Amino acid sequence: MFKVTRSDKPEDWTNSDYTDPVVVKQLKKDFLSKCYLCEQADFGNVNVEHFVPHLNKSEELRTDWNNLYYACSHCNGIKGSRHKELLDCCEESHNVDTAISLEAPSVPNGKIILTNTLTNDSDLFELTNKTIALLEQCYNNANSGNQQISHQYLKEKILEEHAYLQNLRFELKKGLNRLIQREKDDLVERISNMLKRACK
Ligand SMILES: [Zn+2]
Repeated sequence: MFKVTRSDKPEDWTNSDYTDPVVVKQLKKDFLSKCYLCEQADFGNVNVEHFVPHLNKSEELRTDWNNLYYACSHCNGIKGSRHKELLDCCEESHNVDTAISLEAPSVPNGKIILTNTLTNDSDLFELTNKTIALLEQCYNNANSGNQQISHQYLKEKILEEHAYLQNLRFELKKGLNRLIQREKDDLVERISNMLKRACK
């Protein structure tokens, strides 16, 4: 997960429609165009997700700006109203960027491995476990036809980025004594840009 700094509620959002383009546009900017759960960027199936489910059609929760999150339909469908107690990427103290480590699968059909990095005396330990339970489904669940396609697509994107990074590292390591400085600098810059992109 990644941290999000939420802007104030858009002043030109004056109706009660949480899918209003004004809302979606601001969320997209705040969430760096990424689904807050699976972290894929620039996806087509954008959903405005309610962090706290608006059960019983609570108008307050439904239109509360601070309860609206940017997500893809795959993750929104999995989260539904079943997953309620989660780490909050908009809450600075939750340290969502370090509480969970994500490991790409070592074989093409393997699962993405999520690990709780906190010690069990941490206040956020249980919340992190519950978040991992949801993310495991977002990353690895392929029960329905649609989910299977999204799951496969997501995994391929992660594997692709992982393979590219490994390749750059290998090229650099192999060429340490052979490459001229400019070529080494170029490789280091490409690796650094990739890591910056991943941490954005
Ligand atoms: Zn997603």
